[in-house]
Amino acid sequence: MPELPEVETTVRALRARLTGRRVTGVVQRRADIRFPLPAGLEASLVGRRVAGFGRRAKYILGELEPDRTLLLHLGMSGRLLFDGEVPWPHEHVTLSFDDGTTLRFVDPRRFGMLDLCDTAGLAFHRWLGHLGLEPLDPGFDGKALLGALSGRRTALKVALMDQRLVVGVGNIYASESLFRARLSPMRTAGHLKPREADRLAAAVREVLEEAIAAGGSSLRDYVQADGELGNFQRNFRVYDRAGEPCPACGTAVERIVQGARATYFCPRCQR
Ligand code: ZN
Repeated sequence: MPELPEVETTVRALRARLTGRRVTGVVQRRADIRFPLPAGLEASLVGRRVAGFGRRAKYILGELEPDRTLLLHLGMSGRLLFDGEVPWPHEHVTLSFDDGTTLRFVDPRRFGMLDLCDTAGLAFHRWLGHLGLEPLDPGFDGKALLGALSGRRTALKVALMDQRLVVGVGNIYASESLFRARLSPMRTAGHLKPREADRLAAAVREVLEEAIAAGGSSLRDYVQADGELGNFQRNFRVYDRAGEPCPACGTAVERIVQGARATYFCPRCQR
């Protein structure tokens, strides 16, 4: 499943390739992906110029002049691919641009999402309104994180993955961030001390930025917009390393299950 770093990488590729381009064609091959596609998609898009691309959590936001925004979510298996001569299997929507570029939304499992909304109302869109802190925003720090976790009695790792509190920290990044912050995934989220929250906020940002620099971390199923598989998995310190020595102290990395997801941690370094 594409996680935040893969989505951010995709957004940067879209921004570089499509900003300033005008939509010249839309081919829609289904009435729905995960949800029904917006009515009149072709009429709404054709002729509009792309002002840029942004991101909120794992939603890709295509800003269309003068006042509309295209929302895309890659779901479990979605990919955005440029060009190619023929449609891919499971290609649901294809956009063409005035320089001859085509953008293909391919999604075999169809958990992907696409919608259009007025840019002015974007923050209140039903997919975005409830989302938590954006960890790559300049304002994301220990204080903000402490506020989001305040009063939470769930395990720290489960809270860190709760999109209503902090967005985009998927399972791999949660384990890796907690290791770097030297915090046990079993800690009660609301009991973090300010200094610990500072460490965790810095670790989350560091891990996500490394993953973006490496082009994302998915082990399979996902190819970036430019067709390269990300290689952040080389940076894993605890994730998927149960029984192997902790890189800091040599203690065997442990695996537990929290919220039905695997957690990896060092029982000695993480307190
Ligand atoms: Zn250790």
